[in-house]
Amino acid sequence: FAPLSSDFYGYAEALLSDREQEAVMAIRAWGEREVQPIIGGYWERAEFPTEIVKPLAELGVLSFAWDETKPFENSAVFRGFVALELARIDASVSTFVGVQNGLAAGSIAVAGSAEQRAEWIPKLASAEIIGSFGLTEPLSGSDSARGLRTTARREGDEWVLNGRKRWIGNATFSDVTIIWAKDEADGQVKGFIVPTSTPGYTATKIEGKISLRPVQNADIELRDVRVPEALRLQNANSFRDTAAILRQTRAEVAWAAVGTAIGAYEAAVAYATEREQFGKPIAAHQLIQEHLVNGLGNITASLAMVVRVSQMLDAGTQRDEHSALAKAYATARMRETVAWARETLGGNGIVLDYGVARYFADAEALYSYEGTREMNTLIVGRTITGEAAFV
Ligand code: FAD
Repeated sequence: FAPLSSDFYGYAEALLSDREQEAVMAIRAWGEREVQPIIGGYWERAEFPTEIVKPLAELGVLSFAWDETKPFENSAVFRGFVALELARIDASVSTFVGVQNGLAAGSIAVAGSAEQRAEWIPKLASAEIIGSFGLTEPLSGSDSARGLRTTARREGDEWVLNGRKRWIGNATFSDVTIIWAKDEADGQVKGFIVPTSTPGYTATKIEGKISLRPVQNADIELRDVRVPEALRLQNANSFRDTAAILRQTRAEVAWAAVGTAIGAYEAAVAYATEREQFGKPIAAHQLIQEHLVNGLGNITASLAMVVRVSQMLDAGTQRDEHSALAKAYATARMRETVAWARETLGGNGIVLDYGVARYFADAEALYSYEGTREMNTLIVGRTITGEAAFV
């Protein structure tokens, strides 16, 4: 097992079992061999490398979290490391997995019935089908809890869905989308497993992104989309149930933020030791060393936080404010770290070929999705003060 040089205190990876370490190493080796060389081109063309989907499934990445599919007992810290390793290679790849696994399969795991879990989770874990998660709308982002306009109307054994969704990851090629909508009868948010081939469902790719360009985000329109009651998530009865899904995925985004910071930091260290100015490697200049040390400090502090939050998930003590603080903190520290890394490369820091520009641009989306830094900060602020500043 080769520890990351950026696990500076050398304790985090030691928390993994031998089996978990083996799996992390396999994912790291695959990512460096198969993804790193090709991802810059996909980023530039704003295309998703669909050829990596089956290998991700074969490596177990989509299976580890679920009782129905996990190849061996594993911890939340291990699954965090999986997100970290993927984001260390590329944050669009970790985002694809976060949507397929954490958001789509996760919705069914948390809010589906036993029959729904048995039917859908193995298909998502094997990548037989691709999933996406439709919560955000054109007119409601941070205030999704109360601001959803998409409606669900019960007619006999069917539900009729109407509305629009925005930013939905994987949605240009997904087979099913979890659609969150307000029940016209009781006003509560409910979730539906919607096959994307259903009449009235359309998805249109969002063009012109400057961050996570390979991720296929879409605007979705739902016009009298009919789904049977059997496709309503049976245990999603209010937004509280949606929030329970986001609590877990936010912690994984925090892990991915640490991975993104590490990817940029490692590239900056490598560049600084090779590039010479004023007759010596730039790594020998004091201010460059400061960039690198600040980056390592951010990574070390964030890693400690995400490890603890995952341990709390396994212990059953993790609450919304715990993952919210980790997400807000780790993404803010990531944003500083990728900026220092970019600065370390000078002009080459804005060119895809040099391996830092992509992390710098991708950090912006991680900073804002799954709850912006502000919203996650306010979740923690509510806990500290007892005052909810956002309602
Ligand atoms: P807004 O809510 O309009 O916020 C704009 C600004 O105002 C932000 O800075 C915000 O923090 C601030 N703000 C808002 N309210 C307050 C307040 N009360 N106090 C202080 N500041 C406030 N959604 C999905 O459902 N599924 C997906 O797969 C998905 N994938 C995404 C992928 C990408 C690349 C991106 C960029 C977004 C994705 N999203 C997805 C949507 C994402 O979760 C939202 O962008 C996010 O929640 C913020 O919502 P918004 O963009 O509408 O910003």
